Amino acid sequence: MVSQEHPPSRRAIRGRILSFTDDPAVVDGEGSYGYWEDGVVVVEGGTITALGDANAILPQLPSDVEIDDHSGRLVLPGFIDTHIHYSQSRIIASYGAQLIQWLEKYTFPEEARFADPEYAAKCADFFFDELLRNGTTTAAVFCTVHESSVETFFAASERRNMCMIAGKVMMDRNAPEALLDPPGSNGAAAGFEASERLARKWHRRGRQYYAVTPRFALTSTEAQLEACKALMDAFPGAYLQTHLAEHRDEVEAVIRQFPRARNYTDVYDRAGLLGPRAIFGHGIHLDDDELRRLHQTRSVIAFAPSSNLFIGSGLFDFERTVDGAHPVRVGLASDVGAGTSFSMLRTAADAYKVMQLQGQNLTALRAFYLMTLGNARALGLENRIGTLEPGSEADIVVLDGSGIPALKQRLAACDGDLAEEIFAIMTLGDDRAVAATYIAGSLAHTAQRKTSG
Ligand SMILES: [Zn+2]
Repeated sequence: MVSQEHPPSRRAIRGRILSFTDDPAVVDGEGSYGYWEDGVVVVEGGTITALGDANAILPQLPSDVEIDDHSGRLVLPGFIDTHIHYSQSRIIASYGAQLIQWLEKYTFPEEARFADPEYAAKCADFFFDELLRNGTTTAAVFCTVHESSVETFFAASERRNMCMIAGKVMMDRNAPEALLDPPGSNGAAAGFEASERLARKWHRRGRQYYAVTPRFALTSTEAQLEACKALMDAFPGAYLQTHLAEHRDEVEAVIRQFPRARNYTDVYDRAGLLGPRAIFGHGIHLDDDELRRLHQTRSVIAFAPSSNLFIGSGLFDFERTVDGAHPVRVGLASDVGAGTSFSMLRTAADAYKVMQLQGQNLTALRAFYLMTLGNARALGLENRIGTLEPGSEADIVVLDGSGIPALKQRLAACDGDLAEEIFAIMTLGDDRAVAATYIAGSLAHTAQRKTSG
């Protein structure tokens, strides 16, 4: 169901177009992307129908096609965020705590407020506005334990016609009473039933996907984790999103709580939760055996550098995880509210620094690949989003660094070198560098004005 104020018609978006076809670290250099200095993307009914040189395409278009002229600006597929909490927008930048204390001191009290659907609706609106301001067009999103928080979220997402993955947090132990799926022997069942109702209503409705969302091993019983597996089986194409090996204290607590498991990953593995639709936040403190299992099952790790630095979780070893003996699929994520910015540009800048501290390099081309096609692949959505190839859904971001003085000055010194230029944008840019965001071909945000649904 699409309910936009301005239904998408035919539109051409002109600018300096950059769209990846592969990972620049795997397919060398220019073989991994297409770049058109004066290019155009043609959109019809929300889908991209043509991509190429403006000089070749524009003369062939009927005269009534609307042309959005972003000449000089970079036009890319919309950014994708593989792990974020909409319920934590208001506790972003909360001082002085590591993971477990951070959950208890800031996260749980804030999430309890989502029992009020009006409060949740306000937070959802803020969240979507913020994503669009930052050029993020798809995200994998944790709601709260309240069924209504998910209803509210998907309703707001559907109004904006955005491609979103989200689910109800499931917890049946080790959290405040108000945030637990109903206690006792039916605890697991109650979380299951609410998730099932939500998945039945929202999974694959319009552009929405359901994600079975146990918060993490510490807050679920084995019975609840098994219920998650039953949900995955019941809804083909549904995601599993949770946290894994984020912080050393958490890893130790999980080992104590699940004495029969060989390691943290094995807790999820024993419940049957590993697989190509499973997105595990963080995965910092993993041994080789765990990486091997994640590799074998094609599971995904969401690398959230800003969050890892802010919470003091540790440095994610990107090379070992992505390019090592057991290569694991990895996406890039903000993890707001532990992450300190909604901007995927800022997130990529932190990824670069986390890797620098370990003697590794993240090229700008690979970073922009990760934010777009790489993350689409991590979510198994590369046939729909993450590129500007004809046939893709027209989620598009337009970048312009001229509004940020230090970036404007740096760009002038780049002398047209694309890799240098986008490195400067990811290092110095943020929401101020986002000139426009399109959702399924409709303008959803401009730096000057906003037309959200
Ligand atoms: Zn998280």
